[in-house]
Amino acid sequence: MENKLNKIALRKQIREAINGMSSELCAKECKNIWQQVASDPIFQRANTVLLYWSLNNEVDTHQFIEEWCKRKNILLPVVNGEYLQLKVFEGIAKMKKGAYGILEPQGEVWKDYDGIDLCIIPGVAFDKQGHRMGHGKGYYDRLLSIVLAAKYGICYSTQLVDEIPTDPWDEEMTKVIYPK
Ligand code: ADP
Ligand code: MG
Repeated sequence: MENKLNKIALRKQIREAINGMSSELCAKECKNIWQQVASDPIFQRANTVLLYWSLNNEVDTHQFIEEWCKRKNILLPVVNGEYLQLKVFEGIAKMKKGAYGILEPQGEVWKDYDGIDLCIIPGVAFDKQGHRMGHGKGYYDRLLSIVLAAKYGICYSTQLVDEIPTDPWDEEMTKVIYPK
């Protein structure tokens, strides 16, 4: 119960901190984050990468996905009730708004979880130990509990905190990439 309240307070604090970032700073931090991802050996070797289609207050993925989808298989989440299903990104033109107003690919559901080489995961906040906090619905905890691949959390500087309050079901990241 205590964790639940701590998480709620932290979510509010981080949301305000992100809103306080200028668009120039966001763009600068995004550039640095994607440079780190592109030079990462696991990313370089990966054929199939789980990404996410970013909303305004998340590390922007749109350009990166459009650039890399020519060379790699990019999977994106599709909200299905309490679960995230995965579908292959086949271009913006083929996406449709889903449950939370987020653009989602259409087409067949990707079920080969062992075929995923790397997951790049958004969050509200992370710490350097690899703990992650989301929006409070546990979507990524449920999804990542069945994915063996490396999990990289990515976040703006304002989303990195000393210590995330964690619960037993929280999935840990292999590493967290933040602007350096
Ligand atoms: P978030 O990770 O989005 O910050 P929480 O970690 O607070 O959210 O989890 C939200 C809810 O999701 C919790 O009440 C938890 O019971 C549920 N949940 C998390 N992971 C799982 C799981 N693997 N299976 C079933 N329910 C889960
Ligand atoms: Mg969680």
